[in-house]
Amino acid sequence: MKLHCEVEVVSRHLPALGLRNRGKGVRAVVSLCQQSAGNQRRPQASSDPDSQPPAFLFISTMKDRHGTRYQLKENIEQFFTKFVDEGKATVRLKEPPVDIRLSKANASSLKGFLSAMRLAYRGCGINTQLSTPTPVKTSEFEKFKTKMLITSKKDYPLNKNFPHFLEHLQTSYCGLLRIDMRMLCLKNLRKLDLSHNHIKKLPATVGDLIHLQELNLSDNHLESFSVALCQSTLQKSLRSLDLSKNKIKALPIQFCQLHELTDLKLDDNQLIRFPFKIGQLTNLHFLSAARNKLLFLPSEFKMLSLEYLDLFGNPFEPPEVLPTIKLQAPLTLLELSARTVLNNRIPYGPHIIPFHLCQDLDTAKTCVCGRFCLNSFIQGTSAMNLHSFSHTVVLVDNMGGTEAPIISYFCSLACYVNSSDMLK
Ligand SMILES: [Zn+2]
Repeated sequence: MKLHCEVEVVSRHLPALGLRNRGKGVRAVVSLCQQSAGNQRRPQASSDPDSQPPAFLFISTMKDRHGTRYQLKENIEQFFTKFVDEGKATVRLKEPPVDIRLSKANASSLKGFLSAMRLAYRGCGINTQLSTPTPVKTSEFEKFKTKMLITSKKDYPLNKNFPHFLEHLQTSYCGLLRIDMRMLCLKNLRKLDLSHNHIKKLPATVGDLIHLQELNLSDNHLESFSVALCQSTLQKSLRSLDLSKNKIKALPIQFCQLHELTDLKLDDNQLIRFPFKIGQLTNLHFLSAARNKLLFLPSEFKMLSLEYLDLFGNPFEPPEVLPTIKLQAPLTLLELSARTVLNNRIPYGPHIIPFHLCQDLDTAKTCVCGRFCLNSFIQGTSAMNLHSFSHTVVLVDNMGGTEAPIISYFCSLACYVNSSDMLK
């Protein structure tokens, strides 16, 4: 009986000596073994399990392939199984006085393994196949590689699978036209680098990689980033996204629901505008969108607090002198009800009101006063110094400018008059 996991054997004497363990497990094959020596086996052994030699624990690692054995019979002080569902458990032995910490195991295999250990502790017969303590082959550890970097087509694995436990995978310059479905089964992936390929579309199942923190898709042929991806588990995990050197014209509003994003690269695309709720990306520190087609920045841009901002080479328009006035008097019923729903944060959705109304509400403008407006507003542009929302700013043009036009909305004449000085 074998278990593949990470193991850390910690001596309980360490704290007494003022020492600490490294706190990091290593890949190991843990097995429940039995002495296979023929002289220990008696003829009646098969009929009476109790007469079998006791099982012991055998831990082999890459460095110690011949393994270390630990007696189990009446030698376990305690099991710690609170996090067994996360694939973690600790077994405290009496002699030697060590804690054997198992982690990154398959939860159900771990449970089975622990129950077998309990039986071994009581000295009972175990009804499963016990292994013989043999050195583990190097190839067995190959499967547990957590990092794989492929930077040419010839190294791309066509006939064999990616190691199941990969956490970091790079496949660049491989000429990929789409994402290999085998990658989407790598549930431990934290870092996926698919830069320098020919990928046109992302499957929504990328969002099933629940631990994915860094996604690099630079230098591909992407034209969009789908709503489904924006609303997937990436919302909770994705920190860094590189979409530079693609053909993206716009990002959906839902993009701003990727709340954990800290680094976003959008350089060398065809973006006409940022998603206007960009201010919701409150964790964003690094933003670059150089060489796009941005004409202005949305008013929510002012909510960002960045460390680094690069908007070089965008065709920003000079701010308009006169505001665009689209005020309605009196307000339409639609405008009034939309403002009421939004200002009172009344929940809405396509199951309650028509879908097109949901879209209208999703794209409502926010006035400088914090209230909302739909179709009745005054729109003004003002030049803002980008240093007001970023520590480091790359010049926006070759003339040394650090200003860009920002659009502001006003729900009423009063709001416009009150803040008209900010438009100067
Ligand atoms: Zn207002």
